[in-house]
Amino acid sequence: MDLPVEEWKSYILEKWALLPKSVQVTISKAETLSDIFLHSSSLLQPEDEMFLKRLSRGYLVGKDPNAPLFYREEGNKKFQEKDYTGATVLYSKGVSHSRPNTEDTSLCYANRSAALFHLGQYETCLEDIVRAQMHGYPERLQPKMMLRKAECLVLLGRLQEASQTISDLESSFAAKPTLAASQFQILQRTLCRLKMKIQKKENLTETVSAALTKAFEDMDLREENKQISGASASVSLCTDPFKGRYLIATKDILPGELLVKEDAFVSVLNPAEVLPLHLGLESKWDTRVTNGDLYCHRCLKRSLAPVPCDGCSYAKYCSQECMQQAWDLYHNIECSLGALLLTLGVFCHVALRSTLLARFEDAGEVTRKLCGDISNKDTRLPESKNLVQTLSYDLGGESEKNGKTVETPIPGCDINGKYENNYYAVCNLLPHTENHSAEYKFLCALSISALCRQLEAASPQALMTGLTSSKLKAAMAPVLCPESSIWGVAMLRHMLQLQCNAQAITAIQQTGSKENIITDSRQVRLATGIFPVVSLLNHSCSPNTSMSFVSTVATVRASQRIGKGQEILHCYGPHESRMGVAERQQKLRSQYFFDCTCPACQHGKHRTTAEPRWEAFCCRSCRALIQGDEVLSCGNASCTESVSRDHLVSRLQDLQQQVGIARKLLRNGKLERAIQQLLGCQHDAESFLSAEHSVVGEIEDDLAQTYAALGDWQKSAAHLQKSLRVVEVRHGPSSVEMGHELFKLAQIFFNGFAVPEALNTIRKAEKVLLVHYGPGNDEIQELQKMKSCLLDLPPIPGGPSL
Ligand SMILES: [Zn+2]
Ligand SMILES: [Zn+2]
Ligand SMILES: [Zn+2]
Ligand SMILES: [Zn+2]
Repeated sequence: MDLPVEEWKSYILEKWALLPKSVQVTISKAETLSDIFLHSSSLLQPEDEMFLKRLSRGYLVGKDPNAPLFYREEGNKKFQEKDYTGATVLYSKGVSHSRPNTEDTSLCYANRSAALFHLGQYETCLEDIVRAQMHGYPERLQPKMMLRKAECLVLLGRLQEASQTISDLESSFAAKPTLAASQFQILQRTLCRLKMKIQKKENLTETVSAALTKAFEDMDLREENKQISGASASVSLCTDPFKGRYLIATKDILPGELLVKEDAFVSVLNPAEVLPLHLGLESKWDTRVTNGDLYCHRCLKRSLAPVPCDGCSYAKYCSQECMQQAWDLYHNIECSLGALLLTLGVFCHVALRSTLLARFEDAGEVTRKLCGDISNKDTRLPESKNLVQTLSYDLGGESEKNGKTVETPIPGCDINGKYENNYYAVCNLLPHTENHSAEYKFLCALSISALCRQLEAASPQALMTGLTSSKLKAAMAPVLCPESSIWGVAMLRHMLQLQCNAQAITAIQQTGSKENIITDSRQVRLATGIFPVVSLLNHSCSPNTSMSFVSTVATVRASQRIGKGQEILHCYGPHESRMGVAERQQKLRSQYFFDCTCPACQHGKHRTTAEPRWEAFCCRSCRALIQGDEVLSCGNASCTESVSRDHLVSRLQDLQQQVGIARKLLRNGKLERAIQQLLGCQHDAESFLSAEHSVVGEIEDDLAQTYAALGDWQKSAAHLQKSLRVVEVRHGPSSVEMGHELFKLAQIFFNGFAVPEALNTIRKAEKVLLVHYGPGNDEIQELQKMKSCLLDLPPIPGGPSL
């Protein structure tokens, strides 16, 4: 999803292979991005663009006038089944396809308000009622919706407004006696009931419990760094020729301390599993739920009741404000290009959006910075000082090589030495032009130039008005190349930067059905963004920080004590608890172009044969670990067992299949049979997997879930504790994974009224999660609620009686 779709990729690679050798050499040897871009884009033929257009057609991004009815009916089916969340999402899809100010739009909003009412989301329900009315909700259907409105207001304690709504309704009945008698009676009865509710509520003492104030004190940095925006004063920016830029601790840092809090310069929601719908599918419209349906396309907040863009069915936002902001900043240009952007992938999209956002930066400011930059580098830049060269010049770490002692500002910093989250800093992230293969550069350059041509065709006006006020143009008065190629080169630079500098924005998604008392959580990738400050951190396979996201804001916290002078490190993905050393090295070399020498890798090199304990097998007779390549033999000297790897691998596959069957039973509510199946799996696993094998942990976790569903808290807790041990061995006692597992255990004890155990586990979970997320986190708030609930319990003589 980051890169263009497969069909386009292979089409371009084939085109590359057919190029004359001399042309290939010209492109491979081109030294500047400008040359790469100009050479490549001159090869983009109309038939290539046609091919790309055909591919894009598979994505439904326009508004289909027949879709709203379809989605409304599908939504109504879910509503009948009482699956209100499912219904909400389908009504949202209906809204996305409706034109503004049509009955379609108003009906979808009205139906969605009903589903939201059943979900207890009264505020959002009211918002949808207003939207339905704004788009012209039919008069004949009004009474029902007004009743819903009154009911929401009562439930929210807004009694005066509720009374007003009711008396409005009554007078409109009086004015229009067109309702059928039976209908009128029903309405009258409901009105009566509501009035009584209001009276009862008014009689209650006025003190509505004070709104829970969220713990905001930690959401901001205690003391902001004067040199780096969004970083704490406990770190400082350094640079050296080998490492490039990096951050070190200027004082001792404690676990949990907030080190960086940065809003993405740019971010693009990942369409996730959205696939192009080619003809031949049974339904033209997609009823599947994706991240694109659940998260705001601008701020990434989760929303069950999004408002769609007026121009396309693809972009959806949490609010009118987000929609307007996105429109003004970038969507006015992106709107008509949705299908093309889905075909070309998220990296292309991020590249485009970055340059669109650059238009809004203070032109004068940036000119000053760039000019300052250029004059400082006079000795290194050839005569023509234009943006293209500034952009295509790798600014990092070269000053010392010339043996110069002059104080060169750290790349990306302004003339005062300040590093900020802005376009200038983004431009200074390394594109690693020399490390990418020629084919990859060709693919990127052609994709970008196809996008440029569409941009020119689609919205030349918008682009030009953008450009006249743009920093790109203002900054670059003496440009040599035509305007569109400045955009192209800038976008190509961003696309090449992204392989190393793209940051996945993740969210914790609660999984598990409504009936599941224990919520499980998994990390999902929501978006791809660029964070110039976070990009200053180098990688380690055993990092000393932990990163999390709220909306588009990244926070980096110390996950352990960091001594003064130590480097601040985070993990780019290959973590020692997730991958073996060889796999990590390979991944870091191919994607990030460096050889990792972190302590975990140094340490791991000495014992390359041994697999991590969470993947290890054990001897069937003595239970010691067995090791080896093709044939594994027992580590116990007095034991002669040996077995072929193929045999073990196929046993593991069989076991995983059996676990899959058990999960299906659990999902379908066949709990007793799920237990039997899982106990069988557990027995089988013990005979050949190490006690810390990840599959052993998963089986224990599933057993815990199943027993919890049966209400057997003791057994559930016992199994979860076993799973906890596996997690601890693999990820460490203070890891975020451990935090989530402890959270589950706390829920089990809480539900089982095992008060001391619950309190103890809550404290442990809180301690671990606080380090990684800070106090604003949902799970931590939940833990605090459980704790105060337990502490408020009256002492029960003789213990729990459930
Ligand atoms: Zn939003
Ligand atoms: Zn749009
Ligand atoms: Zn490493
Ligand atoms: Zn043995």
